[in-house]
Amino acid sequence: MAAIHPERWLKPTPQGLFCIPGDFYIDPSQPVSRAIVTHGHGDHARAGHNTVLATTETAAIMKTRYGEKFAHQVMAQPYGITVKVGDVAVRLLPAGHILGSAQIVLEYGGARAIVSGDYKRRRDPTCPAFEPMSCDVFVTEATFGLPVFRHPDDGHEIERLLHSLSIHPERCHLIGVYALGKCQRLISRLRECGYDRPLYLHGALVALTQLYRSLGVDPGPFATIAGMVPSQLKGQIVLCPPSAITDRWSRRAGDVLPAMASGWMQIRARARQRGAELPLVISDHADWDELMQTFVDVAAPEIWVTHGQEDALIHALTTKGYIARALSLLGRDEEEV
Ligand SMILES: [Zn+2]
Ligand SMILES: [Zn+2]
Repeated sequence: MAAIHPERWLKPTPQGLFCIPGDFYIDPSQPVSRAIVTHGHGDHARAGHNTVLATTETAAIMKTRYGEKFAHQVMAQPYGITVKVGDVAVRLLPAGHILGSAQIVLEYGGARAIVSGDYKRRRDPTCPAFEPMSCDVFVTEATFGLPVFRHPDDGHEIERLLHSLSIHPERCHLIGVYALGKCQRLISRLRECGYDRPLYLHGALVALTQLYRSLGVDPGPFATIAGMVPSQLKGQIVLCPPSAITDRWSRRAGDVLPAMASGWMQIRARARQRGAELPLVISDHADWDELMQTFVDVAAPEIWVTHGQEDALIHALTTKGYIARALSLLGRDEEEV
């Protein structure tokens, strides 16, 4: 019997991608009865669903962000185990994006579709690497879906930061990072590169960094800057949410050298807009080459694009002989990249 094509059972809706035979949404933007959540970023993981299926780590992140009662029922599931949800076999595979991030593998009617959420292919010490699996339809994001986006090696960016510290020992290096994922990855990479001094965190970054530690990602010594005076922060690294770089809070750190770690830092105008004197191109999303490599690795004849630079990516895919379509899902933003 011929397989039932995923377009007949996996539909974009205003609430998100809906799987008909499983009666669940993936990363719904509004409260629903059954949700499967790819990872803990706010544009994918929302509070108020009746049932949530997610990795153990994503469930823990949602609990930290939204409180104990973020959903009526939580089904925390390790990677690689297959469960039946309605008539659909569901499995979570590592996506390499942030701790707990998962691709959702769906099998129904003899066909396999994979919804990858957000992902990257580079090594990240805070989470297991993206695991490619062959499928009939691969659902991808396209945040950096333009050939101009090529991210440098993150080790190179860490070296630039450490070099800046060595030539500006009197300035506090204030680095804007997203609270979930980027913060802990930057800390882990600094530790791997031998930076063993205490790191200072804005209060908004502490809870998730502690959670990462409890889940096995050791940040080494860190403290908040509460009660410290500018002279104590000379030559130190302070991490804060991106918006704090330019707000009143940053005055507590004295003479600061503002920096920001994001895939968007490749664009000078974005770096200027953020007030980043030292833009660090460190991305948790796939760049152009990683996207293209992934489509080869998953060997899917058909690619559906959720959000980002859909038009450019779909054009390139069509030229290469793929079937490609835009899902135009609502409620995804460019945050936390
Ligand atoms: Zn994300
Ligand atoms: Zn996202």
